[in-house]
Amino acid sequence: MTSQLTYTQQISQVEQQAGAAIRVSDIVKRYGDLTVLDRVSLDINAGEFITLLGASGSGKSTLLNIISGFNKPDAGLLEVDGEDFTRRPPHKRGLGMVFQHYALFPHMSVWDNVAFGLRRQRRPKAEVQQRVGDVLRMIQMDHLADRKPDQLSGGQQQRVALARGIVFEPRVLLMDEPLGALDKLLREEMQLEIRRIHQELGITFIFVTHDQHEALTMSDRIALLKHGKIVQLGTPKELYDSPNSRYVAEFIGESN
Ligand code: ADP
Ligand code: MG
Repeated sequence: MTSQLTYTQQISQVEQQAGAAIRVSDIVKRYGDLTVLDRVSLDINAGEFITLLGASGSGKSTLLNIISGFNKPDAGLLEVDGEDFTRRPPHKRGLGMVFQHYALFPHMSVWDNVAFGLRRQRRPKAEVQQRVGDVLRMIQMDHLADRKPDQLSGGQQQRVALARGIVFEPRVLLMDEPLGALDKLLREEMQLEIRRIHQELGITFIFVTHDQHEALTMSDRIALLKHGKIVQLGTPKELYDSPNSRYVAEFIGESN
């Protein structure tokens, strides 16, 4: 099929699959007197795996939801590949989401759960077949396509949630503590799986966790948040070897 496309069409297909660069500039979010994000700025590179790390209540989910569009900032700018996304509605952002609580439809099969969003967009049947088949193979769930969610393990349910996040071929995948509900062994397995999928897709991944080990093993870069500010941004090695404060040293070094 690909060979029948013109050269320009092939190029544009490649571009569609590439990750997007995100620029967060001076984002402020308040709830009453509480400043949850305090002039946060962050440049995320196209295709990188970046983790928002921080203690509970540090503002990770709020920042992620401002990027997804489900939450509105009080001030600041959000740009995706140079376009102003600050006030763009979530469904027009082309971003994929995976949550901790997978929110699978219990009465639907794995296949139908993954196909749901594409069908709602009235995509052609052949395209739905193709894409759902592709992502189920990618996450190694094609042999369980007919199962209902309650016939799956926690890890398998999380794979389905992941499939739903990537089936739209987003340029960015946002994940809010996706492994929080899994036990240690499954968590480690899924950490590797998510890294593998990141490499396979080549899109930008923004991952949220409060677990410093998870952040250190998975990320290209980590943004460590404390009380709504990024206190250090760098590679896992930089944060580990050269923490810029005692807070960072203790947070990164903490074992749990
Ligand atoms: P994290 O994901 O790092 O645990 P959140 O972004 O969820 O942190 O929350 C950051 C802070 O904002 C917390 O103090 C939380 O209580 C507060 N917060 C979040 N959402 C709301 C809301 N809708 N109304 C009031 N306060 C909120
Ligand atoms: Mg959170």
